[in-house]
Amino acid sequence: MAMPTENSPVKSPRRSFLRKAALAAAGGLTLHRVVNSPKASAAPALPDAPGNEIVRMLADLDAALARSPDRRRWVMVVDTRKCLGCNACTVACRAENAVGPAGSYRWVRRIESGRGEWIADTFKPANCMHCDNPPCAKAVPEGMIRKRPDGIVELDYTRLKGPYARAAAAACPYNAIHIEDGRAFTEGTPAVQPYEQVEFREYGRTWRRGELVGAARKCHFCLHLLEAGMLPACVSTCIGRAMYFGDAGDSKSLVSELLAKNRAIRHKAELGTSPRVYYLAEPFATTPQAACTNCHY
Ligand code: SF4
Ligand code: SF4
Repeated sequence: MAMPTENSPVKSPRRSFLRKAALAAAGGLTLHRVVNSPKASAAPALPDAPGNEIVRMLADLDAALARSPDRRRWVMVVDTRKCLGCNACTVACRAENAVGPAGSYRWVRRIESGRGEWIADTFKPANCMHCDNPPCAKAVPEGMIRKRPDGIVELDYTRLKGPYARAAAAACPYNAIHIEDGRAFTEGTPAVQPYEQVEFREYGRTWRRGELVGAARKCHFCLHLLEAGMLPACVSTCIGRAMYFGDAGDSKSLVSELLAKNRAIRHKAELGTSPRVYYLAEPFATTPQAACTNCHY
């Protein structure tokens, strides 16, 4: 599939922050009405609401999982025009993957642009970019960081520790890797809470944070959920429907459609990393509040 470039045409209009919030709220109301309507039957017609996109992404996921891994091309697409900066995705990721205070698999950066009355906020969620040409892998002995056939960059938790973990973290231009230190958020309180001591599943195995002290950790595209036919936690949790995930190798998938119809930017693509996370952005704009986000993502 021909991937979009930074010069691809854009059809979506710019929306202000308040407009984003209103749209998200409207989507939520629509869903609520359908679920609670007395007319709702056991199998209601799906509304024209953000939920439809979840249904479609799940169908895309099923289709992708029916193909061999080397015929899938997992990508994440972030529509920055719809992100509200709420960080629900960050919380969902922490809970799903038992990420402690040493770092985060995911973060949402706030970018302020414009001057005077023309101030605009843009929010940019980010995580490991699952680079096709990952600098982290080149910084450590072969096999400690592997690129899977479906595109996910996988860490060997048993070997990528200590100086190797630090070398991988230093090599990542996106600051996507942190080092597990085993601490808990509730340390120093009367009791470390059980939800901080849960087991979690990554790379085909169950882990506890204590056994990963000194190891490199990062986003794994929620591989364990994908294998179970579920979307990554950050995608299914997003209340603004700004997060998308799917197979860009399938020209009929929702992510392929979004990439074909919008201007998509990849962060620091000029480094040659070939990141697998795409940001849908405004058209090249001339208004003062939009001008900075033409380039600064
Ligand atoms: S974003 Fe960083 S950790 Fe992820 S694949 Fe690229 S270089 Fe490696
Ligand atoms: S894909 Fe999973 S691991 Fe990666 S940022 Fe989203 S929730 Fe976290």
